[in-house]
Order: sequence, then structure tokens, then C-alpha cells
Amino acid sequence: MYKIYFNRVKQVYELGELVRMFLPPSEFSILEEDPLGQPLEEEGDIVIRLPDSITTRDDGKRYLYDQLKKYTGRSLEWGTLTGVRPVKLVGDLLAAGNTPEQVLECLEEQYYLSREKAELLMSIRKTQLPYLNTEAAGAIGVYIGIPFCPTRCIYCSFTSNQVSYEKVLPYLDALEQEIRFAGEAVTKQGWYPESVYIGGGTPTTLKDQDMEKLLKTVRTSFDFERVKEFTVEAGRPDTITESKLAVLKENGVDRICINPQSMNQETLDRIGRLHRSEDVAEAFRTAQKIGFKVINADLIAGLPGEEPEDFLYSLKSIIDLKPDNITVHTLAVKRASRLKEIDEHYSYRQGEKVRLMLNSGQQILRDAGYVPYYLYRQKQMAGNLENVGYCFPGKESLYNIRIMEENQTILALGAGGISKVWYPDENRLERIPNVSNYEIYIERIEEMIQRKKDGIFTGFKEERQ
Ligand code: SF4
Repeated sequence: MYKIYFNRVKQVYELGELVRMFLPPSEFSILEEDPLGQPLEEEGDIVIRLPDSITTRDDGKRYLYDQLKKYTGRSLEWGTLTGVRPVKLVGDLLAAGNTPEQVLECLEEQYYLSREKAELLMSIRKTQLPYLNTEAAGAIGVYIGIPFCPTRCIYCSFTSNQVSYEKVLPYLDALEQEIRFAGEAVTKQGWYPESVYIGGGTPTTLKDQDMEKLLKTVRTSFDFERVKEFTVEAGRPDTITESKLAVLKENGVDRICINPQSMNQETLDRIGRLHRSEDVAEAFRTAQKIGFKVINADLIAGLPGEEPEDFLYSLKSIIDLKPDNITVHTLAVKRASRLKEIDEHYSYRQGEKVRLMLNSGQQILRDAGYVPYYLYRQKQMAGNLENVGYCFPGKESLYNIRIMEENQTILALGAGGISKVWYPDENRLERIPNVSNYEIYIERIEEMIQRKKDGIFTGFKEERQ
């Protein structure tokens, strides 16, 4: 058992995150010194104590990292970085006047990143450059959530419900109310959407007529003149039909996501998906025939029962379908998922396998002409690795880049949406959440709107009084 004392270092949460990246929760305790000086260790414990001379978060993380590396014999490709958005760190270091070579050196020496991860960050930052700092005043992102799916995937920790059609309709009514309010408030605020993203859940679970009504509500509520990207997640291939895709296209959607996650039938059955791997190819053919500007495909590395060759088979099969974007996720097993209940330490055992999948996958994608353009990390990821969005050059998703940069307001509508209001003068984001339970959302829709009036559109409130 590891007994760890942080002593005077304040950012205990981030230090705890770093420890969790090395050790499963059952193997360590984070303790405070007993005020009476009684020892809390037992024989055989490994004790790590941050010296009193260490007072900053980064020094604390480096010390901990060195100690954990010494005792476990492991090192982490992302070094001491525990945050979600490591590309931002590169931006900050460049903005501080460092040359690219100095940034690389700093990532390796100060944050202990592997050379490969440091270079990956630098190349992503370079791909993003034409998009950075191009936000016009008043440009925002709009996210709309549809929290329904045909079945629940074994690893799902999102707001996803399997319900009858009768239960979907009151949700859409409440959502329409929130969209109409938001459209009016955004315009009054002098804002406009630069990108609109309908996600979930699986938005394409909606029937054609309901999808049409939703899209028309969105288009008539917001000023679409300056919208540069309109995405709908058509995540589950079993929800995709030609007529539904035609509805998307006719209503101006120019980017869709078809998310097979794996092309191995046994895996699809194991994770709780209803579709066949052939349905994915069919969905792609239909979408390509209808003609969207960008089609994205999501894959997950580290799914239960998969070996590196299974993942690489899926990746090559997807590349053959020629999507414009391919997002490679590392499986993250979170508390709300069934997989976590079944196998609490799943993520800790998958590290090496997933590392092989991602490294080989990156090379295959680059050889096929894809470049990495955005990256984020999550808690509980197998091997503490990363999610990377790849694209053909020029097919980057603006919404994905902006949300990772965190320097634009994102207005999130629907159950589970968390709006993030950007205050540039203070370099600060403020979060205004909606409730995540869709039934409570319906019941409390007036309150969700009021939260936005109070937290975002304060001028709107005054004008209406
Ligand atoms: S498709 Fe996505 S949101 Fe729906 S159940 Fe699966 S993981 Fe959850």
C-alpha cells in the first residue's frame, strides 16, 4: 500500500489525479499527518511525503512523478500533465515568447512528456493556427443535446435514455422553448452563432418529421447568416436512413458524424450496439451520395475483448470508406458506466494494448493523408492516453477546435448541457448548467431559461421587466 502525504502543497486535486494515473485506487491512500504525530503507516507500506520545501503545484507534481516512477518502474507518456487540454499549454508557452524548440524542450524537461507526445502537441497547434484568434466579436458556439439512444453502450456515461416516442415529444417541446428563448436572447446580446452542433445521445433517433421541426426551429431562432459549420451527430448507424439524411441536408447541415466505434461484429454485440458492421458502410455510401461537406467517423481504442489487430482492422476498414474526419478515442471507463460496475480496474489493465493501438493507428492515418487537428484527455482513460481528431487538411471542425481552446462562449441547450460563458478581460469561463435528467429538464424548463437569464443574458432580463 502506498501512503502519500501532500503536506503544504495546495492543489491537492491535481496531485491526486497524478497518483491515480500511476496506481489503482485500491493501492494508495492520501493522508494528512496525524496532529499528535502518530505514525499512520504499517509495515510494508511505501511512504511518499512531499518535502516542506515544495510549495507549488508543478514542483509537487514533478516530485511525486519521480517518486512514483522510482517505486512502480513506470513512466507516463504525458508526464505530469493531468489536464484535459494539453494543446492549450503549448499555446501559452508560445505566447510567453518561447520558440517552438524551447517549447518542445520545456514539455520534455519540465513536464516530462515523451518526445512523441510533445511533437504531437506541436503539430496539432500548427494545424490549428489558421483557426486561432479568428473569432469575431459576438461569435459563439451553440450546442443542442438530444439525450436518447436506441440502446445503452456498455461504456456510456453520457446523458442517454432509451424511451418510447411518447416521452420524446414533451422533451422536444421543452427544448423548442429553450431554443426560441436562446435565439432571441443571443440576437439581443449582439451575438451570433459561428457553429451549431446537435449532439447527444443520438440526435438521429428522432423521426424525420421531428428532426425537420427541430432543424427549422434552430434555423429560424438563430441568425444563420454567419454560421460556418452545422453539425449533427448521426452517431448510431442503425438510426440513419436516406430520408433522415436528406432532411439534414435540406436544412443546411453540412457536417455529420457516423460513429461505428468498431467494425468487428463481435465487439459491437459485446458493447451493446444493435447495428451490423455492414450498416456502417451502407450509412457512409448514403451520406456520400447525399453530399455533406464533412463526414466524421469515431472509433474507440481499448474496447472490451479487442486486441491491437482488431482495432487496426476497424481503422483500416473506416479509412477505406474515406471519411473527412476520423476521431480516435481512448476508452474512458467512468463511474456512470455499466463497464465500471462489471470491472472496476478495466482501464488500468489496458494501457499497453491501447498504446500500441494509438501509435500504429497514428502512422496508418498519417500515411492515408490524415493530420491530427485536435486533442483532449479525460479522466479514467486506458493508459492515461488521449483522444485525437484527425482530418484531411482543410476539413478541420471549427467547433471542436474552439471548445478545446476555451476562448469562446458555448451556449448549451437541452438536458445535460453546460453553457460556458467566456469573459476575455478576465480570461475566465463561467459554467451555467442545465439539469441532466430529461424528465426534470421538461418539468423545470422555465428554471433552465431563468438560469440563462440570470447567468448569461442579464440585459435580456432587465428589458423584459
Ligand atoms: S451512442 Fe453514445 S450516448 Fe448513446 S449510449 Fe452509446 S455512448 Fe452513450
